[in-house]
Amino acid sequence: MKKQCKECGSLMHGRSDKKFCSDLCRNAYHNKRTAILHPAVKRINRALQKNRSILALVDQEIIPKEELLDEGFNFKYETHRTVLENGTVCHYVYEQGYMQIDAQTIRLIRSKT
Ligand SMILES: [Zn+2]
Repeated sequence: MKKQCKECGSLMHGRSDKKFCSDLCRNAYHNKRTAILHPAVKRINRALQKNRSILALVDQEIIPKEELLDEGFNFKYETHRTVLENGTVCHYVYEQGYMQIDAQTIRLIRSKT
């Protein structure tokens, strides 16, 4: 059975595991896929970068949640979280962390790195 190039559809001979007729087609195919991902990835990356720099610029350990919101912090975006033995959730944006003390108050976690 002859295979078709995933990009241009031309029939291919030779190695049966080939997906593209040429490097040009392979690159074109992958570039398109990257372009499709871009808007969402860029938007979320921007939000993470912003959250990270807001946390990095805070010079106190305890801060009202409201102040972070005023700075444009978006609590929806974090990179990972850990849960302490007492059940407290530590949220991280890269190396910057925080935990919620109560509904209005945030405690920042200063990591050593
Ligand atoms: Zn092709």
